[in-house]
Amino acid sequence: MTKISTQLSAVRERIQAACRASGRPTEAVALLAVSKTFGADAVQAAFEAGQTAFGENYIQEAVGKITALRHLPLVWHCIGPIQSNKTRLVAEHFDWVHTVDRLKIAQRLSEQRPAELPPLQVCIQVNVDGGPTKSGVAPEDALALAQAVAGLPRLRLRGVMCIPEPAPDFEAACQVFKRAATLFDALKAQGLQLDTLSMGMSADLEAAVASGSTLVRVGSAIFGARHYPV
Ligand SMILES: *Cc1c(COP(=O)(O)O)cnc(C)c1O
Repeated sequence: MTKISTQLSAVRERIQAACRASGRPTEAVALLAVSKTFGADAVQAAFEAGQTAFGENYIQEAVGKITALRHLPLVWHCIGPIQSNKTRLVAEHFDWVHTVDRLKIAQRLSEQRPAELPPLQVCIQVNVDGGPTKSGVAPEDALALAQAVAGLPRLRLRGVMCIPEPAPDFEAACQVFKRAATLFDALKAQGLQLDTLSMGMSADLEAAVASGSTLVRVGSAIFGARHYPV
């Protein structure tokens, strides 16, 4: 077994244990492998260990990998902030985007999504812990944004994503994640057909699963520590 396949198995076991602990079926939570800063070889190794969904933050870097691995049946999720001048690359190369937090970006993605591709699958990013510098729509504005996004022709709204600040302990993490879960339920109660609550990373996936996450985004626990280019 390669190191990546061993670590991938360990992460899958953590997800299963977290599901059991909260009485949820293990298939209720999917794993997104976050491959930012790692090369196409690392993605290929994870694919050979059974992983097909990958998350990337840096658009340019991701497009290189997506193009290099075209021959594999992979599903690519954009989980990084999106500037207006990058929407075309995202619309043309990714299957999912988790980080839509304003209508202008959503409109551009919809206009630029190529006609021959299926609709772009979208989550609204919500700033659940109110950090002033963080991206994400304020919870009170999430319904209006979600309804507007749901009406765009080339997007398909799937749910909600959040990236809270690291919490001091499990209970504190659950408190914040539960705010996202409550909002997710409230949007569904308004008639939006959502199935994806994207939350939880290497350090806090147990708390996220306990709070209702349906998709955990895990990088370093699978691929190892990241070394950012300066
Ligand atoms: C990098 C990143 C992750 C993965 O973080 P790890 O701590 O390495 O698991 C998840 N979500 C987002 C939005 C990220 O930027």
